[in-house]
Amino acid sequence: MPGYDLHSHTDHSDGTTSIEANVRLAVELGLDGLGVTDHDTTSPFDAAFAAADGTGLTIVPGVEFSSELDGHSVHVLGFWIDPENGPLQAEMGRLRNERERRAEQIVEKFHGLDVPVSIDRVRELAGEAPIGRPHIARAVLETGAVATMQEVFDTYLADDGPAYVPKYAVDPVRAIELLTGAGGVAVVAHPGLFGARNQDEPGLSDAVIESMAAAGMGGIEADHPDHTPENRAHYRDLAKALNLVVTAGSDYHGDAKELQLGQAVTDAAAFSALEARR
Ligand code: AMP
Ligand code: FE
Ligand code: FE
Ligand code: ZN
Repeated sequence: MPGYDLHSHTDHSDGTTSIEANVRLAVELGLDGLGVTDHDTTSPFDAAFAAADGTGLTIVPGVEFSSELDGHSVHVLGFWIDPENGPLQAEMGRLRNERERRAEQIVEKFHGLDVPVSIDRVRELAGEAPIGRPHIARAVLETGAVATMQEVFDTYLADDGPAYVPKYAVDPVRAIELLTGAGGVAVVAHPGLFGARNQDEPGLSDAVIESMAAAGMGGIEADHPDHTPENRAHYRDLAKALNLVVTAGSDYHGDAKELQLGQAVTDAAAFSALEARR
C-alpha cells in the first residue's frame, strides 16, 4: 500500500497501541510514510525514529494540537515541529495539566448522571499519556453502564453531550502561529467534525479556515475516514481556492476506534507539496 498515512495515535496519547507496533504495522502494509501525531505531546518521536531505522519507512514527526473555538475542539496537525521549541512545549504542558483538571470535572458529571466511573481508573488507563476523552470512555465502558465506546460518546461525551467539559485552549489562529513558530507545517485536522459531529452540522466554517490560512497554515485534512463525501468535496474545493495542500490520514487509535492504519493515505505528490511548505 503506497502512500503516507499522516494521522495516527499511540499509547503516548489516546491510542491503544505502542509506537513500535504502529511502525511494524506500517512497514507490513508497505506504507511509504507514517505521521506520528499524538495529542499534545512529542514524546513518541525518539522511539518512532528508532523503530523505523533501516526499514525504509519515512517517519513524519508531528502532533495533533488542541485548540478551541466557541466551546468546541479544533484539532491542528503540526508536521516536522521542533520538539525542543519552548513556546510550543510550554503550551502543550499547560494543555496536559488542563486535561487532568478537566478529567476530574467530567468524572464528577458522570457521577451526577449516576455512572460510577472512578478517576483513579481513568488515570490508570491513561498512564503517562495526556488524559483524553477515550480514556474516560473506556473506564465508563468497564462499569457496564454502556455497551460500546461509541455509545459512551453518543450518549455522554460528544461535544454536545451531558458529560462534556471543554478545555481551556488557545484559538485556532494562535495554534497555527505556535506550530509554524516551531518550524512545523500546520494542517487543520478533520474540519468536517467540528461541533457535535452530527450530520446536520456544517463543520468548521470557511471564514475560520481562511483566517488559519492567513496565519500560515499549509493544508487541510479533507480526506478523513469520518468525513462525509460532501465534507471531502467541500474542503477539497476550499483547499484549492486557498492554495493549500490536501492531506489524508487514518486517525488510527488502535482498538479505541474501528479504523485501520493506512485506511486513508496522502499520495507522493501531495506529500512533496507539503514538504515544500517547510
Ligand atoms: P479530547 O482531546 O479529550 O477532547 O478527546 C478527543 C478525542 O475523543 C478525539 O481524538 C477522538 O478520539 C474522540 N472523540 C471525540 N468526539 C468523539 C465522538 N463524537 N465519537 C467518537 N470519538 C470521539
Ligand atoms: Fe484521539
Ligand atoms: Fe482529532
Ligand atoms: Zn487524531
